[in-house]
Amino acid sequence: MAMENIQMVDLKGQYDKIKVEVNSAIQSVIDSSAFIKGPALKKFQKELETYMAVKHVIPCANGTDALQLALMGLNLKPGDEIITSPFTFIATIEVIQLLGLKPVLVDIDPDTFNINPENIKKAITSRTKAIMPVHLFGQCANMDKILELAETHNLFVIEDTAQAIGAKYNFNNGRTGKAGTLGHIGTTSFFPSKNLGAFGDGGAIFTNDDELAEKLSIIANHGMKQQYYYEQVGLNSRLDSLQAAILSVKLKYLDAYNKARQKAAAYYDTAFQENPQISPPFRFKNSEHIFHQYTLKVKNGKRDALKHFLNEKGIPAMIYYPVGLHLQEAYKNLGYVEGDFPITEKICTEVLSLPMHTELDELQLKYITESVNEFFK
Ligand SMILES: *Cc1c(COP(=O)(O)O)cnc(C)c1O
Repeated sequence: MAMENIQMVDLKGQYDKIKVEVNSAIQSVIDSSAFIKGPALKKFQKELETYMAVKHVIPCANGTDALQLALMGLNLKPGDEIITSPFTFIATIEVIQLLGLKPVLVDIDPDTFNINPENIKKAITSRTKAIMPVHLFGQCANMDKILELAETHNLFVIEDTAQAIGAKYNFNNGRTGKAGTLGHIGTTSFFPSKNLGAFGDGGAIFTNDDELAEKLSIIANHGMKQQYYYEQVGLNSRLDSLQAAILSVKLKYLDAYNKARQKAAAYYDTAFQENPQISPPFRFKNSEHIFHQYTLKVKNGKRDALKHFLNEKGIPAMIYYPVGLHLQEAYKNLGYVEGDFPITEKICTEVLSLPMHTELDELQLKYITESVNEFFK
């Protein structure tokens, strides 16, 4: 039965449907032997610029590098403060700390799981230089309010779009744009399980600012402007041609992939409508949700028991994320203690992400949702 191989993410099933196209793209890169900075990279870069409706895409080695490069492009000084969320993947604050900048964490909105603009406002000081909203699980943070704060206080906005590539955002004034192109810089990841996943690591940066785009591509290439002349310290951060060729093929299907995720999410939503013990993902009115994760809130302390129950029935379910970043061992130096971010801390005990990918079929969805509801009977 198909039930025996329900997966959190089914990369093999997705690949099988585009195998001929992907294999031929890979073969043509191998035949050309242009593995680094070949025509396949340029092609993908242009295609992604068109898809994102952004002036510049700077491809790089992974989503973590994309964040680091973005910060390196802003002429920041040690001790400058970057405001972000404690409820995200570690990469977001890791790069801030690595660069000698100061991550300033603020609590999230309990419905969307995204950074709460009211809390950003209270955390702004004379040393604040940037806000880094993370569009968590596939849905945008409140960019109307974040951009308004940034403008008032003259701050950069770097959107971590690793989990939300393709999500559309509707501003209150009617303007629309894609996640990652709304602020000054957007970053994304092509980690295989992301909505647009490569067959290895990859990442990209988005910006509409010509000067910044040039600077970022120089930093991503060792800080080299003219061959063997270095104008600043850089990184070696490249997207290789094989990954670019694979991503070119997959980009054509990204909207369909995101729709397939939305369809699975709608099935889940309907099935959980009558279950008062769990809250399905909240929909923020200004943002499309492309369901990088389908994350429930499980009430009354039953989350871990539900996870165990599902796992026993062959259904994977994951906790993203079990501990707020403010309480992580490696970031003790920031001086945060338990109780600093009560919403994040509570959410960490309630969240449970169900299988979410492009290949979920109705039989699997039925089995998963019936199992969840059975647990509460
Ligand atoms: C995956 C992810 C990253 C890092 O991307 P990598 O390509 O794995 O380096 C950064 N931020 C968020 C929110 C992510 O989910």
